[in-house]
Amino acid sequence: MISEVSAKSMLRKQKQIDSWFLSRYSINLYRGCTHNCVYCDGRDEKYQVEGDFGSDVSIKINSAELLEKELDHARKRKPFGSGYRFVCGGVSDSYQHFEKQYGLTRRTLELLLRFDHPVHMLTKSVLIERDIGLLSEINRNSRALVSFSFSTVDDSLGRKLEPGVPPPSARLETVKRFKDAGFGCGMYLMPVVPFITDSAEMIEQTVSAAKEAGIDFIVFSGMTLKPGRQKDYFLRFVSETFPALLKEYERLYSNNSPWGVPRGEGTYSASRYFYSASSKYRMPRRLPPAFWPPGISPTEQVLLYLEQLDYLAKLAGRNSPYGTAARVLSGAGRPVEQMSDSDLSSFSGVGSYTVSLIREIINTGGCSYYNRLLAD
Ligand code: SF4
Repeated sequence: MISEVSAKSMLRKQKQIDSWFLSRYSINLYRGCTHNCVYCDGRDEKYQVEGDFGSDVSIKINSAELLEKELDHARKRKPFGSGYRFVCGGVSDSYQHFEKQYGLTRRTLELLLRFDHPVHMLTKSVLIERDIGLLSEINRNSRALVSFSFSTVDDSLGRKLEPGVPPPSARLETVKRFKDAGFGCGMYLMPVVPFITDSAEMIEQTVSAAKEAGIDFIVFSGMTLKPGRQKDYFLRFVSETFPALLKEYERLYSNNSPWGVPRGEGTYSASRYFYSASSKYRMPRRLPPAFWPPGISPTEQVLLYLEQLDYLAKLAGRNSPYGTAARVLSGAGRPVEQMSDSDLSSFSGVGSYTVSLIREIINTGGCSYYNRLLAD
């Protein structure tokens, strides 16, 4: 059931740029998602999506009216921060079928273009092709990055796991059209589904198909299953569709972690499979600097590099102090570029090698160690 609701505000600001999506502001036009992916985290009670998640959707009918005020630079007391405006609901997809009728995403893009904002789109729907012209204008004007989420490129599994969207092969065709139109395109391989889409062969098949379609980078993650509505729904699906796997899932998620992480997550083999496949196809494993939005300050650059280094080093099976370094420096309350080497090393977790990386980032805007880890 669709219900039209009035939102109080639309633009959600984060404290700092997010290192997964390079976004600083997000825009959620809908709540609930008829794409109904069986693993969707949006079912988690903490998001307070009412009703039946896969069929009841609230539509923020006054979104354009609010965004017209919220996106206007002239009405802001403080200037907007850098980072993409991320048009993707954590609890919805902006290109669900009724977007054809309501056009909220299209009107949002028109406003983002009018007010010169950089945009990152993430969707599972081919309906985004409708807006390719508008997105091209944004890309020329202030930059648009277009990403697609996948759990597999196998169409028959895609139909089972993501029943409300066109199959992955159709999504890959859409990627090719965006590549032909000059866009940077990412694949969010989030999540791979344990026992179903996370074997070495399947992950290699996915990375290879992404390469062939022209994808510029892949962001990978395993599946979390939070206790409550999300876990119950998924296990019900498994018992009906893959009954032989039910016991395996009950065991893997028996720790009932509040974040939904599986047992033994640190040694989860799918990460290693992804590491080798991305090395083989020379596919960048996180969102590389060439696709970062304009206007990022030196401090933001340092924090982004450190956060991504943390992920990349761990994926490569190495110890990483970089996550801690990013955390302590983000809470330092002053720009990293104004700190001396001894200031930097006074923070716990910031050793001499990390200081040398920070200095390289500030002086050159790049990081050779990061480049090596990105796709080696
Ligand atoms: S498209 Fe995204 S938001 Fe919608 S059900 Fe699938 S995972 Fe959830």
